[in-house]
Amino acid sequence: MLPYGRQSINEDDIAAVVEILRGDWLTTGPAVAAFEQAVSGLTGGHRAVSATSGTAALHIAYAAAKVGPGDEVITTPMTFVATAATASILGARVRFADVEEDTALLDPNAVAAELSDRTTVIAAVDYAGHPANYAALQTLANTAGAITLADAAHSIGGRDGDRPVGDLADVTTFSFFPTKNLTTGEGGAVVAKDAELAQRAHEFHNIGLVRDPDRFEIRGEGPWHQEVHELGVNYRLTDVACALGLAQLARIETFKRRRSEIFERYSAALGQVDGVRIPVKRPHADPMWHLYPIRVLDGRRREVYDRMRGAGVGVQVNYMPVYWHPVYQRSGYARGLCPNAELFYSEELSLPIYPDLADSEVDFVIDQLIRALT
Ligand SMILES: *Cc1c(COP(=O)(O)O)cnc(C)c1O
Repeated sequence: MLPYGRQSINEDDIAAVVEILRGDWLTTGPAVAAFEQAVSGLTGGHRAVSATSGTAALHIAYAAAKVGPGDEVITTPMTFVATAATASILGARVRFADVEEDTALLDPNAVAAELSDRTTVIAAVDYAGHPANYAALQTLANTAGAITLADAAHSIGGRDGDRPVGDLADVTTFSFFPTKNLTTGEGGAVVAKDAELAQRAHEFHNIGLVRDPDRFEIRGEGPWHQEVHELGVNYRLTDVACALGLAQLARIETFKRRRSEIFERYSAALGQVDGVRIPVKRPHADPMWHLYPIRVLDGRRREVYDRMRGAGVGVQVNYMPVYWHPVYQRSGYARGLCPNAELFYSEELSLPIYPDLADSEVDFVIDQLIRALT
């Protein structure tokens, strides 16, 4: 079965990991610092804090933004559940705003309708790798005294105009799960424009430990001393993982080019095919395409899904609207809340896209899709 996404691992990746295993540091050593520096360099130069997953990165970002009970977070339902779940876990109320009909990205007009003085974060998702409309979302956030968060689990390496993902929102989170654009096995990162927020992110992911003597509240203990001012967790990424991440980052432009080629090959073949809609791109966006999400029309998505799977093409559906999950249904989010997202979900099918997918395999997917539709 051709998967919808998978990692690309070469001999350099393997050598980088082996080198760490032979060295002194398995975790919180030089590879972590170097990986955070490299992520920062790719994403606008703001401080990066690595983490054990994209979910952990979201949890860290909301915690660093001091999200808690009484706060509201506005987000998109067209995402993996973690985008909302991590805000809910911190006690915030999540408000789902609908997506744009064509891009499935958070719609600023829908966000405006949910905005209040309790809004602390507007969290968008760069669905499929296409950057959301952060210019409009930032304006809304500023009027409410809130911040913008980009869940960029799909979009590291992408750009909007002349700005890289990581420089588009106040806080950005990444996932380095194997199906994403680069991998550390499990892994993630938070990038923050505000230095204080970035420091809070660092401390939250490191058990809340304060190590700067200038900030100590307890004096005169000795050189071993460290103290906790705010509670944290251990979400530290290892040197083993970061060495893999560094080796992967060296190939990110190659990954991006190949993903774009596959995207264009699908679009050229499927643009005129009846019964499907191909994904759209805004003129100023330069996406790192993580997914190739087609729309299967006329109520035929399930049938096409089954036929493709039967033919050895591991298509996927991304995503069921988050508030359809029983945990959100039980707390009163009714179906029908975001009609664009629900329609999108009913039609969406993700075709395989990953750097090592060959042109012949892309053509096989195209043939099987056309067959499934006829
Ligand atoms: C993958 C993903 C996450 C979670 O990342 P993990 O590394 O799997 O924890 C969050 N948001 C989106 C949009 C994702 O695709």
